[in-house]
Amino acid sequence: MGRIHQLPMSVVNRIAAGEVVERPASVVKELLENALDASPTRIDVALDQGGIALVRVVDDGGGIEADDLPLAVTAHATSKLRVAEDLERIGTLGFRGEALASIAEVSRVVIRSRTPDGTGATITVDGGRADEVRPDGCAVGTTVEVHQLFGNVPARRSFLRAAQTEWSHASEAFVRTALAHPAVAFSLVHNGRRVHDLPATKSWRDRIAGLFGAEVAGRLIEIEADDGEVSVHGFVGRPEDDVASGRLQHLFVGGRPFRDRSILHAVQEAYRGLLLSGRQPIAFLAFDLPPDAVDVNVHPAKMEVRFREPSRLYRLVLSALRTKFLAANVTTRLEPPRPTAASVPEFEPFAPPGHSGFGTGHSGFGTGHSGFGTGAERMAAPMSRPLWPAEPVAGDRAFASRVAGDAVAAPPAWEVDDVSRSVAGEERAVQMHDRYIVVETAAGIEVIDQHALHERLLYEKFKAAVEVGGLEVQPLLVPEKVDLAPAELELVHEHMGTLERAGMKIEPFGGSTVIVTSKPALAGDTPAAAIVREVLDRLSATAASGGGTSVLVDEVLHGLACRAAIKAGDRLSQAEVDALVRDRRIVPEAHHCPHGRPTSLTLSRQDLDRQFRRT
Ligand code: ADP
Ligand code: MG
Repeated sequence: MGRIHQLPMSVVNRIAAGEVVERPASVVKELLENALDASPTRIDVALDQGGIALVRVVDDGGGIEADDLPLAVTAHATSKLRVAEDLERIGTLGFRGEALASIAEVSRVVIRSRTPDGTGATITVDGGRADEVRPDGCAVGTTVEVHQLFGNVPARRSFLRAAQTEWSHASEAFVRTALAHPAVAFSLVHNGRRVHDLPATKSWRDRIAGLFGAEVAGRLIEIEADDGEVSVHGFVGRPEDDVASGRLQHLFVGGRPFRDRSILHAVQEAYRGLLLSGRQPIAFLAFDLPPDAVDVNVHPAKMEVRFREPSRLYRLVLSALRTKFLAANVTTRLEPPRPTAASVPEFEPFAPPGHSGFGTGHSGFGTGHSGFGTGAERMAAPMSRPLWPAEPVAGDRAFASRVAGDAVAAPPAWEVDDVSRSVAGEERAVQMHDRYIVVETAAGIEVIDQHALHERLLYEKFKAAVEVGGLEVQPLLVPEKVDLAPAELELVHEHMGTLERAGMKIEPFGGSTVIVTSKPALAGDTPAAAIVREVLDRLSATAASGGGTSVLVDEVLHGLACRAAIKAGDRLSQAEVDALVRDRRIVPEAHHCPHGRPTSLTLSRQDLDRQFRRT
């Protein structure tokens, strides 16, 4: 008696569901692909509770014949392939014929559909059991509703994250698809609120603007390149418009979003030296290549594709971006200011072997993070913004007043002397290249990255203040207006409480505009718009990875610190230099910025002596 037997179809479907349907976002993606394959002019998506309770996709495409409805929800039933050779020339987004069957196995699916010359019909499938096809007076096109995903599979249901997390994944799936098909109108509604309303357009830039805001889209640099077989078209961000996450990096081939580390690496490579480590460039790239040069059937959820010649795409992207940057003169603006004296120390050759991080691994002079574009003015004018705005931090007043006092205005000389002797000992500190501070310490020489250190210090102060509930909030006399992209607006709605805990009070103002009515005093006069964008970007990435409230608040503080800190290129007064150098002793772990980049490098007396053969 053999022990091997054929699995019943319901078990097969449920196994397939495990591959295809991971979470509401996968449902959104599959339903959108089906809708797009039906050549619609518009697609409307509605979600409840992040898609866990409901995903509804309505299209006005070609529809499904009433007789075909039971087949549509049957595994390996598709209208898109007939013979194996068709796999070599797939022109549709779907082809596996298992999405609807898989989804219907683990939820309750209701389909209503009508073809242009048929009559409308509906079918309901609950946990894999289909009922009768019934007539339905629907419009031409198809509506698919997926209720209570994994409602009948408690083990899977328990793996779903909070609705907020599922929502951020689901909206990401929507965004990717909508980006890939600008000629189709899309809308997205979550819990009854309209998040996106995207008219059909011929221009990719317009679609990007619809999703991410006109301001972001307007500043993008257009890229176009062709190596005879493969071509790439798209948009990339200016280096100064870098963001905290890879959320604004999107790749497409044949109307299909895909992930590819190698191509993203080429993008990073093109920006090398133009961004601080940990920062990400914006990139929207669409590839066009012969169908036989790419295989889309390598991943159940079709998230990855395989190229016949991956290195070809790598080279194409890298050279396209580099050429463009050279032409746009992006790189030259990044050069450090010319040394004024021949005595600028050249540390690198002295780095003893094994002393990692000195001159390497640290992005060095080329990183004019912000400040280019406006670089010249910034370098010419001494910085007017105080390092520590005068508001003291409640809960640690002694500390706050010490750091707040002398950096703001030039205090009487004896006071400076007094402070620097008592706190910083005899350390002498000099700013170089408007980026680094070189300090003479008892142990040797310390080179400090002014932005990294200030960011670290601000972050620690923010954090300490939030922990004792004493974050000083500065109400704005004139609230600052910020125009947001739809997705950003949604994030504001979602995270209002988190933002407020971090001192950022943001209120809807109508349309896509919000007003910022308060910010933390420590943020000084950093423009609210810069802070809000940075913080929202980080929040969306953190929410997607399922971070809890304290993680989210922390992320906001990181964003605040990053934007409020002095930048490379900001010239500091001697009092400001001294204040920074002194404060690094007060804050724990000041030797790393919040991203883990070093804030300072040390060259010891011993090393120096050895290099000069004094020992
Ligand atoms: P696949 O898309 O891989 O063919 P699916 O399970 O996703 O498999 O869908 C099965 C079939 O149902 C499709 O081949 C298509 O004929 C039909 N179908 C599904 N959704 C739609 C839709 N929105 N409009 C028209 N036909 C659809
Ligand atoms: Mg499909």
